[in-house]
Amino acid sequence: MSKSSFTGSNIFRVKKHNLRAILLTFLHHYAISRSQLAEETGLSNTTITNLTAELIAQGMIVEVDSMDTNGGQARRRVGRPRRMLQLVPDARFVVGVHIGIGMFRVAVANLHAEIVHNKMCHFPVDQPAKEVLDTIAQLVRETVDESQIDQQLVLGIGVGASGLVDHKTGVNVRAASLGWHDIPIREHLEMQLQLPIFVDNNVRAMALGEAYFGMGRGVEVLAFIYGRIGVGAGIVVNGQAFRGAGAGAGEIGHTIVLPMNGDCCRCGQNGCLETLVSEPVLLREAQLIADELPESILAANLANNDLKSIDAIFNAAEAGDQAALEMIENQMHYLGIALANLVNVLNPELIILGGMFAQGGELILPKVEATMRKLAFAGLGENVDLQPTAFGWRAGVIGAASLALKEFFYETEREQAILA
Ligand SMILES: [Zn+2]
Repeated sequence: MSKSSFTGSNIFRVKKHNLRAILLTFLHHYAISRSQLAEETGLSNTTITNLTAELIAQGMIVEVDSMDTNGGQARRRVGRPRRMLQLVPDARFVVGVHIGIGMFRVAVANLHAEIVHNKMCHFPVDQPAKEVLDTIAQLVRETVDESQIDQQLVLGIGVGASGLVDHKTGVNVRAASLGWHDIPIREHLEMQLQLPIFVDNNVRAMALGEAYFGMGRGVEVLAFIYGRIGVGAGIVVNGQAFRGAGAGAGEIGHTIVLPMNGDCCRCGQNGCLETLVSEPVLLREAQLIADELPESILAANLANNDLKSIDAIFNAAEAGDQAALEMIENQMHYLGIALANLVNVLNPELIILGGMFAQGGELILPKVEATMRKLAFAGLGENVDLQPTAFGWRAGVIGAASLALKEFFYETEREQAILA
């Protein structure tokens, strides 16, 4: 695969900042006029005219009549149609790679982070990282091939990886559940795929995906809470990922919510959130209940091989198994405590739940919400919107694709650092 004409072209090098400012504006508008673009970007009318002409020539935006965007009202009002501009979502593509614990998913996505084609693969958690990355590279090639897009239009690859990630170097510093230490993900994949690659923590990527393309658009401060084997948070402030001083922001799974009698966490502390609300913990608790109540729906579900993992518990609770429902509510009380603490520190407008927490839906959300609102300081919890992600299983790859779209198309972090 070769680098796209967009990243390699002269106009990109010379005017990339202004172009990116224009392209970013298109994300917030279905259609926009040149004068509106000038107003929103602060660029002169002449610059807008020139740069939009270049973007049209490159096939990235297209001119439409305003009657196409508002049912013809403008045509009747002004006598002739106003020329509006729209982004062409399939003008360029990126690849998003979500690396979870024991699985990864690869997706080709367009400029709106809409998935064109995706594939998933499981791997043993003790498989050497280099082998996993080789398989990922292979699956990226296959996914792009099968998507039948023009490979020249692929801008780059975003990788959302588990654990602590240094986004500047693209190194997975530590992924405890995989036993990964100092794995140079970017270097390894760039060598194999010959495309620019941007790596960050996978939940941070999901938060960014929501901020750019999901329910977080226009939200100043949002947090994405993901629960599966582990529990993590991604925080986005004013459209930018908040990483903290050492890329460790968002380790909500290791906030301590039960210090006195809590179980020992894989991090070495006692009573971390992860020891109370992760998937393995719920399964363990459910099995204890099932052993005591062998005639229950829960016991039958857990013994049913067709119902995989957490589904066995959620289905039992939905089918009226009171013990299963109580167990879920008891455990999720601790997620509510952690979110109340998060609200007190961060004062977010929006908290989005993903993974198992979204999958559990109404079994989880009301309890978590009630606890969070009750415990947060001085009514701060009342002003938080708590929602399950609308992206479902796609949250990981949409997030990973967003990393690449942001860095290689809409706005790079490097440019911001220069401008700051
Ligand atoms: Zn811990």
